[in-house]
Amino acid sequence: MIPVHAFAGQPVAVMGLGRSGLAAAQALAAGGAMVHAWDDNGEARAEATKAGVALHDLSASDLSDMAVLVLSPGIPHSYPQPHPVAAEARAAGCDIICDVDLLGRAMPQARYVGITGTNGKSTVTALIGHVFQEAGLDVQVGGNLGLPALELAPLDANGWYVLEMSSYQLERTFSIAFEVAVLVNISTDHLDRHGGMDGYVAAKTRIFQDAGARQTAVVGVDDERSRAIAEMLETAGDRRVIRISGDRPVPDGVYVDAAGTLIDDTGDARTTHELSGVVTLPGRHNWQNAAAAWAACRAAGLTPDVIGPAVDCYPGLPHRQQLVAIIDGVAWVNDSKATNAAAASKALESYASVYWIAGGEAKEGGIAALAPLFGRIRHAYLIGEAAPDFAAALEGKVPYTLSGDLATAVAQVSATAGNGNGPGAVVLLSPACASFDQFRNFEARGEAFIDLVGRLPGQRSRP
Ligand code: ADP
Repeated sequence: MIPVHAFAGQPVAVMGLGRSGLAAAQALAAGGAMVHAWDDNGEARAEATKAGVALHDLSASDLSDMAVLVLSPGIPHSYPQPHPVAAEARAAGCDIICDVDLLGRAMPQARYVGITGTNGKSTVTALIGHVFQEAGLDVQVGGNLGLPALELAPLDANGWYVLEMSSYQLERTFSIAFEVAVLVNISTDHLDRHGGMDGYVAAKTRIFQDAGARQTAVVGVDDERSRAIAEMLETAGDRRVIRISGDRPVPDGVYVDAAGTLIDDTGDARTTHELSGVVTLPGRHNWQNAAAAWAACRAAGLTPDVIGPAVDCYPGLPHRQQLVAIIDGVAWVNDSKATNAAAASKALESYASVYWIAGGEAKEGGIAALAPLFGRIRHAYLIGEAAPDFAAALEGKVPYTLSGDLATAVAQVSATAGNGNGPGAVVLLSPACASFDQFRNFEARGEAFIDLVGRLPGQRSRP
């Protein structure tokens, strides 16, 4: 844990005591702040008490004396409706920040890479972290992925924090100027939390703020909104911009051709690297991720002869097109992290013949955007709250079963695919939905899937 001394002797409010909030409360207390911590949830409060954090009901407090409010990224401060404590903080003129901002205050000497985007953030973050590690750099990887910011280890001026940044975290981080800032892509997601698309794009664009000439901006240009941001930065002319693409040539940038060859056109001599054989980066979307990570590593000063071999031994992340088992010739793939249609479309695009398990807590837009991929789906097994809406979208186009829950879906697919109908097919859990209606989070949903698949009968071959 990293102590935060920036508020020594001052009262600080911490609202939301999940893992990152708890770490923030402890880090602030260790740095001498007078912490007033609260969570609406009794269980979280009990955990905090066990961890030695002092509780104080912020909903009944005047926040005008507080130096700052550290608000958990999961709690809204504006849309769809501000949490009452956030509203009170605003009215009292108290700044709202998050734990990543505190890391920036505590470790100003370190170097920072920030990664954002609608999809692919975690993959790009993990890949950059892996390459840095292979290159022998002193690196800590976390933020919105894995360890919360203040649970990372302290670093000196040669050390790098590689941080996945959600749009919520970006809206509450002011103390970090990312030396390398990566925007992978932008598509529709979380609009309710940002008051629409403009708010969402503005939050994502914050990754480039407060940096100027000290920054290299790595921008994916495969969607219109990100392209506009690349143009805006290039026109401003105050920093280096590296364009990256998973599907089109970008002069002076990093891109991947149709056969899966990555082309690095950033230096004097163009270099290439084969991605088609990297099994942990399947599909064209992962080539976009690889191009983004490659460009970020170049911006950090690494050379292609170091980056290439490190990319080849990238171990992959759980719950992202994770090959769980091959049973009777059928591959079972856990893509529980695909919580929106854009993410699920990438997984569907990667396979020709799919038994698809989908559904959960619905996201705006449903699965209408997936219609061009319906031909790849042999049968859909629908779970959770979104099942009736998904069924309506599939009606007359794709055979489906209203399975209800994941265990039933797995049993039903197994009975069908294991019945000689399967070889060559992929069973894909790629829900296009959040998990919260039936699971604690997407990880719990993915673990449940792995567990269910682990108990299926049949002849297994090595994944
Ligand atoms: P994030 O952290 O942004 O949610 P992940 O790297 O965890 O992204 O990937 C989540 C899911 O999103 C993957 O399982 C995949 O289906 C999809 N995905 C990954 N990278 C991309 C990309 N570049 N473009 C679109 N979808 C992607």
